[in-house]
Amino acid sequence: MPELPEVEITLRKLRPALVGRSVSALDTSANSYFFVTPPNVLKRGVEGRRAVDLVRRGKYLVLLLDDGRRLLLHLGMTGQLFVAGEGSVELLPTTGRGTLKPSQQQRFSPDKHTHLVFRLTGDGGDVYFRDPRKFGKVQLLGPRQPCERLDKLGPDALGVTAEHLRAAARGRRGAVKGLLLNQAVLAGVGNIYADEALFLARIRPGRAAGRVTRAEHEALAQALRSVLQRSIETGGSSISDYVHPDGQRGSYQLGRMVYARAGEPCSQCGATIAHRTVAQRSSHYCPSCQR
Ligand SMILES: [Zn+2]
Repeated sequence: MPELPEVEITLRKLRPALVGRSVSALDTSANSYFFVTPPNVLKRGVEGRRAVDLVRRGKYLVLLLDDGRRLLLHLGMTGQLFVAGEGSVELLPTTGRGTLKPSQQQRFSPDKHTHLVFRLTGDGGDVYFRDPRKFGKVQLLGPRQPCERLDKLGPDALGVTAEHLRAAARGRRGAVKGLLLNQAVLAGVGNIYADEALFLARIRPGRAAGRVTRAEHEALAQALRSVLQRSIETGGSSISDYVHPDGQRGSYQLGRMVYARAGEPCSQCGATIAHRTVAQRSSHYCPSCQR
């Protein structure tokens, strides 16, 4: 499942391909739950418009159009947004069948899973949104139209501070991991990065959020920024098994410390990595390093 780093990498690849170009045509698949805005309304609203900017809000991408409208894009479980002739992010192997590797994206032509094709003016390839399981979303918003999906989001996880975490955790009895996954508290953290950051900060996922100390909040904020940043810099390779389009792994091989490593020895102390359900999510931690 695409998390913040994958969405950020997608943003960096797509922005130069989209911004400043106009949409001469928008091809869509048949109406389905993928479309929050129906395909015909979408086509009318987007065709002929120029893309002014592309930004990320948590795990959402927002394409700003020259008439002030915004196109909201969410990758869901298996969504892939990429430029024709180029490869973008490789998703986790667990994401399921039907997702394309970066090498397959490079020689791709639209198939039945391609829900949007942005035909663009000027130099460069068209842009595809492909999603075999259709948990992705597309929605066209007016300039000032409220959008619950965006409006409820907390500050972006890439810039999280200890003060923010501490304020959010105060008096909370629920698990600290649940707090990290709450998009209204912090936008962009998913299961993998929550587990990895909690390991680095030496905090058990199930600890009551309100019982995390000031020093631990410092360590946790630092750990979150660091795992996310490192994953972006290495093209996702450190955490999410991303392989670069040429098949090479990223140079920085941090690897997963705890996520999906239950039963294996902890790289720091040798204790067996444990696994339990916290905040309704599968969680991994070292019972010796984390308290
Ligand atoms: Zn350990």
